[in-house]
Amino acid sequence: MSSTPIDEVVSNIPGGEETPHEYGIETLAVHAGARPDPVTGARSTPIFQTTSFVFDDADHAASLFNLQTFGYVYSRMTNPTVAVLEERVAALEGGRGAVACASGHAAQFLVAATLMQQGDEFISSRNLYGGSVTQFGVSFPKLGWKCHFVDPTDPENFRKAMTDKVKFIFLEGLANPGGIIVDLEKVAAIAHEFGIPLVVDNTLASPYLCRPFEWGADLVLHSTTKFIGGHGNTMGGIVVESGKFDWRQNDKFPGLGQPDPAYHGLVFAETFGDFGFTMKVRAVALRDYGPTLNPTAAWNLLQGVETLPLRMERHCSNALAVAEWLQDHPKVKWVSYSGLKSSPYYELAQKYTPKGAGAVFTFGVKGGYDSGLAVVDEVNMFSHLANIGDTRSLILHPASTTHRQLTEEQQIGAGAGPDVVRLSVGIENVNDIIADLDQALAKA
Ligand SMILES: *Cc1c(COP(=O)(O)O)cnc(C)c1O
Repeated sequence: MSSTPIDEVVSNIPGGEETPHEYGIETLAVHAGARPDPVTGARSTPIFQTTSFVFDDADHAASLFNLQTFGYVYSRMTNPTVAVLEERVAALEGGRGAVACASGHAAQFLVAATLMQQGDEFISSRNLYGGSVTQFGVSFPKLGWKCHFVDPTDPENFRKAMTDKVKFIFLEGLANPGGIIVDLEKVAAIAHEFGIPLVVDNTLASPYLCRPFEWGADLVLHSTTKFIGGHGNTMGGIVVESGKFDWRQNDKFPGLGQPDPAYHGLVFAETFGDFGFTMKVRAVALRDYGPTLNPTAAWNLLQGVETLPLRMERHCSNALAVAEWLQDHPKVKWVSYSGLKSSPYYELAQKYTPKGAGAVFTFGVKGGYDSGLAVVDEVNMFSHLANIGDTRSLILHPASTTHRQLTEEQQIGAGAGPDVVRLSVGIENVNDIIADLDQALAKA
C-alpha cells in the first residue's frame, strides 16, 4: 500500500532490516516498494492485470470498505502493481505516501479537488506547462475554482495575490518552458505563513535533480509521462505527500480536518495522521472522479524509473553541452538554460538543482516566428512533437503548438513567445545532437 512508511519501504530492500542505512537515490530507484512475489518468487514486479480482489469473508470486506483494514478491493482505487510505483516515487521524493493516476493533469485535478470547495481560490506561478495554464485558467473556473496567476520570479508576488479563499500555492520549481528556477524555500515560507500548503510540479527536475520536500514543499506532483517513465511510451501522473503539513491548524481544509459524511464521520487527518491527504485523495477523489492508472501502464513506468538517475545524468550533461554550443551560434539570439553561467537563474540552479539543470530549455532564433518554424522543419534526428522527457531528442515551436491557445501576452509571460524553440535533449551521443541542430540552423 502507498501508506507504508518510508522506513518500511526501504526495509523491503533485501538486507535492509539488518543494515539500517540510508539508501542512495540510485538504489531506491531500482528497489523501493518492490519485493519478490511471495507466492511465485517472481523477481520483477508482476502486472496484476485484475480489476478486483477476493475478500476473506464478510467482516474483512466490511472493514476494507470502512477503511479500517488496508488491502485491495477494486483497481480504481488500489492495485498491487500501481502500489509499487506509488511507494517507489514516494521514496524517491522523500515523501510519506503517494497516489498514482492516469496523467499529470489528472494529478493536478486530484490535488485541486481535494483541497478546494466551490468558490475557493489558489495562486499559481504563470510559468507553467501550457496545458496547465489552460486547465487552471479555463476549465477549473467552470467548477468554481479560481486561479490567480503570478510572475514567480519575485516570491513576494505570491503574498500580494493572497486572499482568504486561497487554499494552496502551485508552481513548477524548474519551469517548462521558460528555463526559470523558482525560489522554493521563500515561496514555501509565504504559503506556511498563511496556513496553506505549497504544491510543486516536479516533472522537469525529477527527484534526481531536486526534492522539493527538502525546501518546504508539502505536496509534489508529476506527469510521470515525462522523465519518471522516461521513454515517451506511457501516460501517467502521481501526487506525493510530505506528511508534514498540519491540515487541522485552521479551518481551511474541512475535507481533511472535519468529519467526512461519506465515511461515517471519519476525520482523515486524524485517523490517518501524516498520510491523511494521501488517503483522502485515494478514497474520495480517485474513487469518485476515477482517473485511475492502469496496472500495465504502472509496470511500464516502473521499468523507466529504475534508470531515472542514469538518464538524468546524461540528459543534463548533453543539455549543457548543447546550450553552450547554441549560445555561440551566429543564428541564435539567446539561450535560456539555468545551467549556463549567463542565465539569471544560475545561482538558484546551483542551490536547487546542483546535479544539473535538466534536459528542457528554450532558445530564440534570429528571424522570429518563421525562423523558429523552419528549424523545427529541418531537423532529422530530433522529433518534432509535443512531449518532453523522452530518451530521444525532441523539438517544438511552442507558439504554434502547445501554447497556441494562449494570447501572445500569455505566451510571452510563459516563456513561449514567437521566436522560441524548445528542446528536450535526449540521451543520444551529444555530437549527433549538435550536428543535427547545426544543419537545421544552416538551412533556417
Ligand atoms: C506534461 C506536463 C504536465 C501534464 O501531464 P500529462 O501527463 O500530459 O497530463 C504537467 N506539468 C508538466 C510540467 C508537464 O510537462
